[in-house]
Amino acid sequence: MRPNRFHDVIRIGPVQVGTHRDGRGRSKHTAVCTAPRCDFSADYNTRAAAELAASTHRCTVR
Ligand SMILES: [Zn+2]
Repeated sequence: MRPNRFHDVIRIGPVQVGTHRDGRGRSKHTAVCTAPRCDFSADYNTRAAAELAASTHRCTVR
């Protein structure tokens, strides 16, 4: 549940934010909700956007 191509992984609530390199050497930032049955995940171009999405995410399932 934590691919080693990600680094700087943090957790904000149920959401994990990690940074990885895309195929062209640029950093991408991914926010993924780890709650069961919540399939929220998204890629962002900036770390700030990913962290903002993580902090504002509200699970629809509990
Ligand atoms: Zn969620």
